[in-house]
Amino acid sequence: MNDFRKIPSVDHVLDWEEFDGYNRLQLTEATRRAFAEIRRAIADGREVATDRPSLVILIHERYRELMTPSLSPVINATGVILHTNLGRAPIGEEIFEEARAVATGYCNLEYDLEQGSRGDRYEHTATALQELLGCEEALIVNNNAAAVFLILNTFSRGKEVVVSRGELVEIGGSFRIPEVMAASGAKLVEVGTTNKTRISDYEAAITGETSMLMKVHKSNYTIEGFSEEATMGEISALAKERGLIDYYDLGSAYLPELPWGLGAAELSLPKILRNPPSLLSFSGDKLFGGVQAGIILGRRTLIERLKRNQILRMFRVDKVTLSLLEHTVLAYAKGETEKIPALWMLFTSQETLRKRALRLKDRLSIPSEVLLSETYVGGGTLPNRKIPTVVLALEGEAQELEAAFRAKRIIGRIEKDRFVLDMRTVEEGDFEAIFEAARDIGDGH
Ligand SMILES: *Cc1c(COP(=O)(O)O)cnc(C)c1O
Repeated sequence: MNDFRKIPSVDHVLDWEEFDGYNRLQLTEATRRAFAEIRRAIADGREVATDRPSLVILIHERYRELMTPSLSPVINATGVILHTNLGRAPIGEEIFEEARAVATGYCNLEYDLEQGSRGDRYEHTATALQELLGCEEALIVNNNAAAVFLILNTFSRGKEVVVSRGELVEIGGSFRIPEVMAASGAKLVEVGTTNKTRISDYEAAITGETSMLMKVHKSNYTIEGFSEEATMGEISALAKERGLIDYYDLGSAYLPELPWGLGAAELSLPKILRNPPSLLSFSGDKLFGGVQAGIILGRRTLIERLKRNQILRMFRVDKVTLSLLEHTVLAYAKGETEKIPALWMLFTSQETLRKRALRLKDRLSIPSEVLLSETYVGGGTLPNRKIPTVVLALEGEAQELEAAFRAKRIIGRIEKDRFVLDMRTVEEGDFEAIFEAARDIGDGH
């Protein structure tokens, strides 16, 4: 006989010796959840065990779930290298190890070891960036959105900023250039049309109120066909002539020339810096392949003014970010790009991916087929530009497989009604987890 009277009170359960040493608050919540399930089962007329050992098992299970972190690793088998929902660029293991000592102990974050006096927290990474890129000065903030806001707020509050209508972008749903601009206090002056903006349009829009000419990278869309835009070089020249600031919100920056013909559509950071804008900013965790940060490069006098803005304090990055970024910059400087996962994933040859797929297929308990395919870099970079890849297409109902693998924290994708694991973002180190998941799924777990 199953009825509600068999369920003990929560207070009673808290004193059971089986739960000695458990956190009381979490145990209370776990017990409530377990009992709610039992009541639902009873109400539905389902058979449910309410003896003490069964209750202990159920409560323990819910307790374990409460104590398991929600933010946890997944295997990215989507093939999208900078997957916004999966944390964008992964941090390189070696780079993480190098930053570990700084993070877990004390460090010279704001301490000048030579003078024995207060130092500048931004200097460490700035110096590394200056040496790598030959830029005049650099500043690091929390993310590129913060960089855009800080720059506009510092130089253009109550003043006009000229931007092309073709570049009023929205990124990732919540970052819209016109709204960020309004929040910063800058007045947006739109010039040109959606598909065509010439340098003469910028020129005609300059008034006594103009503070800045801004270019925004079209990160997640392309305008094709009958279109034209002013280059950053043209904008910089005009700004210089009129005594204005020229700022390039580049979004994503990369250093080595890109493979797969991607470089034809974009300029590398070293190329852009041959004719440096007064200010330039980009994300640390897009193609740069580092950690979440906004990297600002530019003229020293301007960066000094950014540092004097009180708002910088709110966008300040911690020692972990600064250390991870400095080590990423040093990896570039030493030519050790194999330490930067986003880059090696992008550069891996299709032949290497094919061999990887074959090794996975060999030991996978679900029958599969190796296929050539295409994927994207993602994360608001290189829009509409496909790159070659190799996938393992699994036999079986695609939606069911997708959900079953997702339950095991393996995120694949569906392509032509088949569930596929894309080798561009899967590493050899992920194989064991994939084999195990496939075995469980095959066994009906
Ligand atoms: C991605 C992007 C941003 C926002 O950068 P976050 O690092 O995500 O804050 C701003 N502007 C452009 C052009 C971008 O591509």
